[in-house]
Amino acid sequence: MMTQTESSNYIGVDLSGAALRAALVTNEGRVVERREAALSAGDIATQVTRVAADLRGEASRVFALGVGVPGLVNPETGRVIISSDLPAIVRSDLQTEIAQASGLNVTMENDANAAAYGEYIAGAGHGSRHMFYVTIGNGIGGALILDSKLWLGDSGFAGEFGHITIDPEGIECTCGNVGCLETVASAPNIVRRTHERLMRDSTSSLSRLGLNKNFTASDIAHAANDGDDFALMMLERTGRYIGTAIAAVINLLNIERIVLGGRIMEAGDLILNPIIREAGRRSFQPCFEATQIVAAALGPDAVPIGAAMLARDMSGAAH
Ligand SMILES: [Zn+2]
Repeated sequence: MMTQTESSNYIGVDLSGAALRAALVTNEGRVVERREAALSAGDIATQVTRVAADLRGEASRVFALGVGVPGLVNPETGRVIISSDLPAIVRSDLQTEIAQASGLNVTMENDANAAAYGEYIAGAGHGSRHMFYVTIGNGIGGALILDSKLWLGDSGFAGEFGHITIDPEGIECTCGNVGCLETVASAPNIVRRTHERLMRDSTSSLSRLGLNKNFTASDIAHAANDGDDFALMMLERTGRYIGTAIAAVINLLNIERIVLGGRIMEAGDLILNPIIREAGRRSFQPCFEATQIVAAALGPDAVPIGAAMLARDMSGAAH
């Protein structure tokens, strides 16, 4: 039987987007090969196994496979308990199905947790020991690494940063609460707030966002990068909401590093700087001064790398 060594490889799969993304990853978290395939709602285990088989053709030794899923995973069983983005995976025992079809050890993890671990091993979290990760896209996810380990919480659901209340009088959230951070700062909600403000704010007439009623959060980021004052203001206000929630995390954890990822970070410093400013204004200063707040570094590789590295750890690899 082969033993795992430093030249071992792992496969990481990301099921959180519209497409299935997979990567062949080294023991140190470096991507050797990537694959992307359309993700259909049908037999997901077969789709994952097919991509994994393709990637295994590129490497002599693959020891384990990790899958990042848009949902909550029971850490005991690996079963996906809740997934609003991909309901089909809740109905199946995906972990067992993929393990049987591929012959590999399979680890399942929430996509934000996987991305956090990827950034921690090979990205913007590298070199830290305690890290909080936030991803801002269609939803807002969070994940916590304490003493170099993913902190899953009592039942595996730690890090629900997007559901911290930011406005007690706010609008209803998908989780049932009112005024969660996600209801103002997720990509669709930034778009919603921007539409609302375009309607009532006369200074918005100079913004090019008014020309296209189907703009996205990326369009807002690009307009801001091009100097559009209205788009800049929307990012500034969004940054203040996120920074307020970040301040609570800083005060609670005295955390070493906070890594911000997801689509919204396309705006770069235009969103990062307001977040840092607001976090600085609202947090306990000795805690704030000990915290580095930085943008994520791995982009769409974060989930595949993190899922692969979690699979590596679970299978007891040398590292
Ligand atoms: Zn919520």
